[in-house]
Amino acid sequence: MSARILDGKAVAAQIEAEIADQTVEFIQNNAIQPCLAAVLVGEDPASGVYIRNKQKACERANIESRLHRLPADISEDELLQLLAKLNKADDVHGILVQLPLPDHINEARILRAVNPLKDVDAFHPENVGRIVQGQPRFLPCTPHGIQQLLIRENITIAGSHVVVVGRSDIVGKPIANMLVQRGTDATVTVCHSRTQDLPAITRLADILVVAIGRPRFVTADMVKPGATVIDVGINRTDKGLVGDVDYTAVREVAGAITPVPGGVGPLTVVMLLYNTLRAAQKTA
Ligand code: NDP
Repeated sequence: MSARILDGKAVAAQIEAEIADQTVEFIQNNAIQPCLAAVLVGEDPASGVYIRNKQKACERANIESRLHRLPADISEDELLQLLAKLNKADDVHGILVQLPLPDHINEARILRAVNPLKDVDAFHPENVGRIVQGQPRFLPCTPHGIQQLLIRENITIAGSHVVVVGRSDIVGKPIANMLVQRGTDATVTVCHSRTQDLPAITRLADILVVAIGRPRFVTADMVKPGATVIDVGINRTDKGLVGDVDYTAVREVAGAITPVPGGVGPLTVVMLLYNTLRAAQKTA
C-alpha cells in the first residue's frame, strides 16, 4: 500500500489565498498595509533563497516586505541598532532575522532584542514561554505549518502518539510544546542524537515528525504501518533536495507522508504571512 501524499504546496496555496483576502479586508478597514522587515546578514546562498521566497509570498498576499541586507562583518551593536529602529517603527509590524547569523554575532542576544509584539518567528523567550504555557501570541512558522497541515488533511492529533525526532528551538521543541497542549491533546515523545534505540521509539508513533538534517535517515523499518510521517528535513545533495526520510521506501509503509520538496517548506513561508497579518491586526 502506498501512502497518501500530504501536498503541503496545495495546502499552503489555500492558506495563502485566505491570508491575501484577509489582508485586503484589513487594509480597506484600517488604511494600514501590514509590513514585514526582513534582516539578512551575509551572503549565505540558502538564506538568500529563503528570503526571496518569503518576499515573493508577501507580494502575493498584499503584505509589504522590506529587506535589510547587511554585510557579513557587521558588528553585533550595529545589528542591535537596526533592530531598535525597526522595533520603534510604526509602519513595521513584523521583524524577521534570517538565521543562521555569522559566528561573531550572539544569536540569542539578537533574538531577544526583537520586540516580542513584532516577533513573527516567535523565537523571543517571551513568546516561547507563552507557547509553553498554552497562551501563544505567535506560533513559530514551521511547527504551525505542520499543525495546519495535520488539521486540514484530517489527521487525528488528539490522543495520538506523536514522536518528534530532533529537539531544536526552531522545530523539534516548539512542535512538541504545541501538540502536547490541552485542547490539542497529543501524547508527545521527543528524541535526539543521544536517544537509545531510536527505531523502537519511532515505531510507536502514530505521527512521526522528523527534523534532524540527515538525508534519508528514517528508513521503512523505523515506521509503524499506517503512520503519518512529516519530513521537515531539507538536505542539499548531489541528487537535489532530499528530506530526512527515505521517501520511496517509507511511502510503502506509512499511511500518509509529506514529500520534500513540496511538503513542510511551503507551509513555513505562508505561516510567516499569517503572523505578519496578525501582528498588524494587533496594532489596529
Ligand atoms: P538542528 O541542527 O538545529 O537540530 C537537529 C536536531 O536533530 C538536534 O536536536 C539533534 O540532536 C537531532 N539529531 C541529529 N542527528 C540525529 C540522529 N542521528 N538521531 C536523532 N536525532 C538526531 O536542526 P533544525 O531543527 O534547525 O533543522 C532540522 C532539519 O529541518 C534541517 O534539514 C533543516 O534544513 C530543516 N528545516 C526545514 C524547515 C522547513 O521549512 N521545511 C524549517 C527549519 C528547518 P542533538 O540535540 O542531540 O544534537
